[in-house]
Amino acid sequence: MTAPTTQPDTLAMTDAAEHLTGASIVGGQAVSGTQGTVAGVNPVTGSTLTPSYGLVGVADVDRAAELAWDAFASYRKTTPEARAAFLETAADNIAALGSTLTDQVIAETGLPRARVVGETARTVGQLRLFAAVLREGNFHGARLDSAQPDRAPLPRPDIRLRKISVGPVAVFGASNFPLAFSVAGGDTASALAAGSPVIVKAHSAHPGTSELVGRAIADAVAAHGLHPGVFALLFGGGATVGIALVTHPRIKAVGFTGSRSGGLALVEAAANRAEPIPVYAEMSSINPVFVLPGALAGNAAGLGRAWVASLSTGTGQLCTSPGLVFVPEGPHAQDFIAAAAAAVAESTGTPMLSAGIQSAFTRGAAVFSAHDGVRNVASGRPDENISVCGVPQIFATDAATFTADPALQAEVFGPASLVVTVRDVAQMSEILDGLEGQLTVTVHSDGAEPGTGPLLDAAELRAGRVLFNGWPTGVEVVHAMVHGGPFPATSNAQSTSVGTLAIDRFLRPVSYQNVPAALLPDELADANPQDIWREIDGHLGRE
Ligand code: NAP
Repeated sequence: MTAPTTQPDTLAMTDAAEHLTGASIVGGQAVSGTQGTVAGVNPVTGSTLTPSYGLVGVADVDRAAELAWDAFASYRKTTPEARAAFLETAADNIAALGSTLTDQVIAETGLPRARVVGETARTVGQLRLFAAVLREGNFHGARLDSAQPDRAPLPRPDIRLRKISVGPVAVFGASNFPLAFSVAGGDTASALAAGSPVIVKAHSAHPGTSELVGRAIADAVAAHGLHPGVFALLFGGGATVGIALVTHPRIKAVGFTGSRSGGLALVEAAANRAEPIPVYAEMSSINPVFVLPGALAGNAAGLGRAWVASLSTGTGQLCTSPGLVFVPEGPHAQDFIAAAAAAVAESTGTPMLSAGIQSAFTRGAAVFSAHDGVRNVASGRPDENISVCGVPQIFATDAATFTADPALQAEVFGPASLVVTVRDVAQMSEILDGLEGQLTVTVHSDGAEPGTGPLLDAAELRAGRVLFNGWPTGVEVVHAMVHGGPFPATSNAQSTSVGTLAIDRFLRPVSYQNVPAALLPDELADANPQDIWREIDGHLGRE
C-alpha cells in the first residue's frame, strides 16, 4: 500500500473566497499535498504568485476515486431536480466570488477583465443550462416499446430504455479557458448533470482560480447534503496524478482539453486498462477558412482585417482560432493580404497564458519562418511591459508548397496564421479533402457562386461545426452546438464538449425488459410522472 501523501488541513471549507490555502479537496476536506509544489505565475509581471500548491500523489488519487465510487451509489439515484438544484447552487457560489475570482484569473492568466467576466458568465450559465436540461428530461432518452404478447411465432417482450450515468469521471482542466473549460467547465457540469461524481486534475497554470472554483463546488455539495465524494480537486502532475486517475478502476470516463500529445497519452493509458474507458480529448485544430472568389471580390480588405481580429482574439489561444485561410490567387488576394498585413503591423502583443505555451508558440511560428516556400507577411510589436507576450504574425504560401509539407498543417497555438493562395474553388475542395479533422471549417461565399455546395459537403466530413460567412472564434453554449470533430480535433468525433449534447458523453443506454411496473424507474413508468418526452413505439410523445 502506498503511503499517504497528504496531510489533513484544518482550514474550514467555508468562506473559501477569502482564503487561498494551496490545498487540494478530497472528500469535502482540504488536503495539502507533499509531493512537491506548483505556483501560479503572473504572465504580465513574471512574478510567482502565492500560495504555492502542494502536489498530491497516487494514494490521494486512490482515496478520491474510492470516495467517488462510494458517492456514485447515492448520487446517481438523486432526482434530476436535486441535481439541478445542486448545479444552481454551484453556479450561485461561483457568481458570488465576484471580483475575488476575476482578479485571481487575471493575475494567473493575463486575460483581459472583460474576457474573464464574460467567461465567468458563460461558466455560471453552463451550470444553469444543465440544470434546465435535467428539468426538461430529454437527456434520459426514454423509449418504450410495447409488449406484443400475441406476436407469432414468439411474443415480443415489453422493452424500455433510458440512459444512466457511466460512473465517476476524471476531468483535466484546460489552460486556455480557466473557467469555462476548467474546474467547473463544460466537462464537469455535464458529468455532474449526468449523475457522475467528478475528480478534476487542476491545470497548474491557474491553481488559485481552480481552488476558488473547487471550493464553490465543494460547498454546494455540502449544502445539498450530497456525499462528499461527489467532487474532488487534485493538484498534481500529469504523468503521476493524471495517469493514475485515468487508469484507476473506479474512473469510467475522461474529459480533457489540451495538447495532442497530452490527449493521446491519456487515450493510450485508458485503452490499455483491464477495462478500457472512453477519453473525450479535444486536442488540436487549425480551423481552415475558405474564401470563395465572389466573397473575396466583394470585401477583400474587410475580410483581411476580420481574419486578423479573429486570429488575435485571446492572443490566439483559442481552440477555434483560424490558423489557415485559403483565398483564390489574383489581385483580390493581394488586397486581402495587404489589409491583414496592415492590421497586424499596427497590433501590439498581448499576454500569453504561460511561458510553456509561449515557447511552444515560438517554436511553431519558427516552422513557418524557416520554411523556404513560406513568406512572413507581417508581425506585430511586442509589448515590453508584458513578461510572457504573444505577438500576432501572419504568413503566406501557395497551394503547391502547402500540400507538399504536412508540417504546415500543425496547430500553432497562439496569434499566428497562414494564408494559402489557390488556383480556384476546385483546388480548395481537393485541399480540404486532404486536411486533418477539425473543430470548424468556415466558408465565405456570396451564396450563389459555383463550388459553394461541394465545399460545404467536404466541410461537413472534416469538421464538427461548419460556418458560413463568419469566423470560428466564439463558441455559443446552446443545444445545437457541436464543439468536436474528427481526429485530431478530438479523440471521439461522435461527441461535443460544448452545448447540452455534451451530457451524452457521460451517459449510457440501458434496456429494461419485462421489468414489473413497480420496479421501473420513474422515467419509464406508464404514467410518465416526470412528464418528459418519450419515444413510445417509435413516436415522440408526452403521454
Ligand atoms: P497540455 O500540456 O496538454 O496539458 C493539459 C493537461 O494535461 C495538464 O493538466 C497536464 O498536466 C496534462 N498532461 C499533459 N500531458 C500529459 C501526459 N503525457 N500524461 C498525463 N497528463 C498529461 O496542455 P496545456 O498545458 O494547456 O498547453 C500546452 C499546449 O497544448 C499548447 O501550447 C497548445 O499547443 C496545446 N493546447 C491546445 C488547446 C486546444 O484547444 N487546441 C488548448 C490548450 C492547449 P501537467 O501540466 O501537470 O503535466
